Amino acid sequence: GDMVGEKMGKINKDYTLMNPPLGKGAFGEVRRAVHKQTQILRAVKIISKQQTPKEEQIRLKNEVEILKSLDHPNIIKVFEFYQDTRFLYIVTELCQGGELFDKIIDEKQFTENKAAETMKQILGAVNYCHSKNICHRDLKPENILYESNKPGALIKLVDFGTSIAYNPQEKMKQQFGTPYYIAPEVLERKYDNKCDIWSCGVILYILLCGYPPFNGSSDQMITDKVKIGKFGFDTDEWNYVSKEAKEFICKMLEKDPKKRISAYDALNDPWIQKYSEKVNCDM
Ligand code: ADP
Ligand code: MG
Repeated sequence: GDMVGEKMGKINKDYTLMNPPLGKGAFGEVRRAVHKQTQILRAVKIISKQQTPKEEQIRLKNEVEILKSLDHPNIIKVFEFYQDTRFLYIVTELCQGGELFDKIIDEKQFTENKAAETMKQILGAVNYCHSKNICHRDLKPENILYESNKPGALIKLVDFGTSIAYNPQEKMKQQFGTPYYIAPEVLERKYDNKCDIWSCGVILYILLCGYPPFNGSSDQMITDKVKIGKFGFDTDEWNYVSKEAKEFICKMLEKDPKKRISAYDALNDPWIQKYSEKVNCDM
């Protein structure tokens, strides 16, 4: 049978759900759960059927289908999908190390080595998705988790709720994403998989300086900046950042998606190659 088939039994038969929630989204929450048979900890994304529009419920099923088709060390693995009269549940691997978002807030800026190690993993996952014609469409530090709190912990992409198996012959039109990270062509509702690379460019920019390249006091003001697509390296934070890093950001934050670097080429960029070499622990 299908390992990730829909379970007809109740989730409570297989799992003990725990409090408090790990995270909350617009339509549900994510909780820790103990797999009763093995005592292994997992994560469960729970969505209330009553409080969630039908299209959002379809999106959760889409998320399961897409996650089932992916097998990569930097992408969250799915175990089961359950539903009962009130809720939908997706059971996945648990990430104990928190969000990249919180790491940025804690550390304010990443060293170039740490940023490159991080970007290499994100771009590896994105390149894998794009090679299978899957576009994530909501890459941001809240959707990038650390597997554990240990130094050198792996990074995992989560939240494939707005991802899509696209036809590379056609442009996508639906607008998804988050103002700081959304690509300008997504705002024009005519885009392809390069929208994920733009978001990676925004993430790297933030990792290296601690603030976003396109900012404003409202969503509208932020997306107006994104549409113009102009950003700078003007503040003191950028004084000690390498020329290669700035050039790499410019290749990802290229406004024209046709000229924008691909995930494959980004993985082979000189900056990634130079700075992601594992730092010698004896140094
Ligand atoms: P939403 O669509 O509501 O944004 P996400 O899948 O992004 O749902 O989950 C919301 C939050 O829950 C994440 O930002 C993260 O903090 C937490 N979370 C999600 N999946 C996991 C997981 N597998 N392990 C640990 N925390 C998780
Ligand atoms: Mg999310």
